[in-house]
Amino acid sequence: MQVFGLIGNPVGHSVSPPMHEAAYEEYGMDARYVTFEPDQGSIARAIDGADALGITGLNVTIPFKRDVAEVVDPDPLAERIGAVNTVAFGGEPTGYNTDAAGVVRSFEHHDVTLSGRAVVVGAGGAGRAAAFALADAGMDVHIANRTVERAEALGAAVPNASSGDLDDLDAVLADADVLVNATSVGMESDETPVPKAALHSDLAVLDAVYAPIDTRLLTDARAIGATTIDGAWMLLFQGVEAFEIWTGRDAPVDAMDEALRNAL
Ligand code: NAP
Repeated sequence: MQVFGLIGNPVGHSVSPPMHEAAYEEYGMDARYVTFEPDQGSIARAIDGADALGITGLNVTIPFKRDVAEVVDPDPLAERIGAVNTVAFGGEPTGYNTDAAGVVRSFEHHDVTLSGRAVVVGAGGAGRAAAFALADAGMDVHIANRTVERAEALGAAVPNASSGDLDDLDAVLADADVLVNATSVGMESDETPVPKAALHSDLAVLDAVYAPIDTRLLTDARAIGATTIDGAWMLLFQGVEAFEIWTGRDAPVDAMDEALRNAL
């Protein structure tokens, strides 16, 4: 039997187990996906132990994405982002950041062409992944963040990027094609980090927040005719990408999507 899993703290409410196990069932794989909650100080031993036990792959979530990047061999994209959310074992443990692919594949799935200007709101883990992913896809990226120093630091690392705070979103969004909310604003609340007046109908808007699925930002964007993509798509495609890294096979996207949305 192959064992996959998720390490984070807490992981009790994760929807990754049903999403990945739907893929194993679809393909008739003898495999399980298990959640683990190591202590903050034992992440290096947890990775060594998983390797020694023959675990095939692990996802990594809060608060360990940066720590794991220090104890595995990150691929070039994960190294630039500075965070790992997927580890593949069997040889030197290698770290990947599939949140980046989660962003790009969410837009591609909705037939959004990634050219022109992208605005990423947020400069934490999700913001870093989105900014590098969209720049690598060929977009000019603007990073806006409440703490402007974090936006500036990220803007200096991402090719062709500019940065600022949240006060001039009106101006930076005027000629933007793509908007990503990579802050936690809107999570379990009716708040939005972007004023409705700053949105326009030519935007494609991805909200990384997936609880609730239909955030205030997406409701506002839909009301003015923008393309909207909810956070479950990003969650789906980061998992799809991880499955494909671990198995070398195309993932059964529809089965994973159905299981994920049933679990959310
Ligand atoms: P993080 O590293 O803690 O970053 C949080 C970000 O939110 C920072 O930019 C922070 O700004 C900003 N922020 C927090 N409270 C704010 C407020 N009241 N007003 C304005 N900005 C605020 O978290 P993360 O890992 O990037 O996650 C961010 C969100 O993305 C979460 O909701 C998470 O669930 C979601 N996410 C979704 C997926 C997916 O697959 N759908 C994947 C990863 C993350 P400061 O720098 O100023 O603190």
